[in-house]
Amino acid sequence: MLKIENLTFSYGKIQALKGVSFEVKQGEILSIVGANGAGKSTLMKCIAGLLKPQGGVISYNEEPLPKSASAIVAKGIAMVPEGRWIFPNLTVEENLLMGGYLSKNRKAGLERAYGMFARLKERRNQRAGTMSGGEQQMLAIARGLMANPKVLLLDEPSLGLAPLIVNDIMSIIKRINEDGISVLLVEQNARKALAIAHHACVLEQGRIVKR
Ligand code: ATP
Repeated sequence: MLKIENLTFSYGKIQALKGVSFEVKQGEILSIVGANGAGKSTLMKCIAGLLKPQGGVISYNEEPLPKSASAIVAKGIAMVPEGRWIFPNLTVEENLLMGGYLSKNRKAGLERAYGMFARLKERRNQRAGTMSGGEQQMLAIARGLMANPKVLLLDEPSLGLAPLIVNDIMSIIKRINEDGISVLLVEQNARKALAIAHHACVLEQGRIVKR
């Protein structure tokens, strides 16, 4: 479904991706695990169109991905960035609406998000920055879903969260996948990411070293 072939990316002299290839198959969770600096965020940003790779091909349903980030979202690929990047001074609902800015039916998107995340519904008028880390991560994921994606890219959703909260987040990711959305999950937390994955790869210093 989403195929990455021989992807390379450098920040000046620092080669962050050294020929990365893998495929996310329809309906699966693919986890890519790797330590700090392995190249996980760079990989996600290249797929989402935020960085332009120097080499390689990214294709989606056998066609090359469009170049612009918004066209990639419109194709059905949405990213939940590392560090969440919610708007702290906007309400929960305003944050969600931001995630659906390209969507024709944001109301339906909101209803779906609230159906899945009851906590966000309760807090729809609360400023997002006043919520806990776990709730903010749920908001970031729900905002990604507002784009009505077929593939969801999740960049280290467990970052900075307590183990019990990480379990909640992983259950949510599983549920999203069971709803028919393919998931590419990159994580440092290998144990949790592998527990929910159908397939997995290990990224080390810009290369897939194990699959
Ligand atoms: P983390 O878990 O810390 O987010 P990561 O696996 O996501 O790590 P990347 O952020 O993709 O790794 O970084 C890969 C390599 O590229 C690292 O060596 C990093 O120092 C380098 N790098 C990342 N961003 C930049 C940048 N803006 N300028 C220069 N080098 C960068």
